[in-house]
Amino acid sequence: MIIDGCPHCNAATIIRNIMMSQGTEPGRLGLDYKALKFFAGGETLLADLCTSCGTVVRFHVKNTDRKWMTRD
Ligand SMILES: [Zn+2]
Repeated sequence: MIIDGCPHCNAATIIRNIMMSQGTEPGRLGLDYKALKFFAGGETLLADLCTSCGTVVRFHVKNTDRKWMTRD
């Protein structure tokens, strides 16, 4: 889905694909996935931000084909 304007303030001032990951730093924000049975890493979380009102309008990742770590 392509967002043309902010759903909150309707401004078209949305910056896309802002990287949320802090790389190897502890406290990295991202979505964890596993390879084989073990924790493998995190998919960088990307955010689309409206610079007019500060609303984060979307969170997404580039690669969805992962074995996601879920709480089940
Ligand atoms: Zn906005």
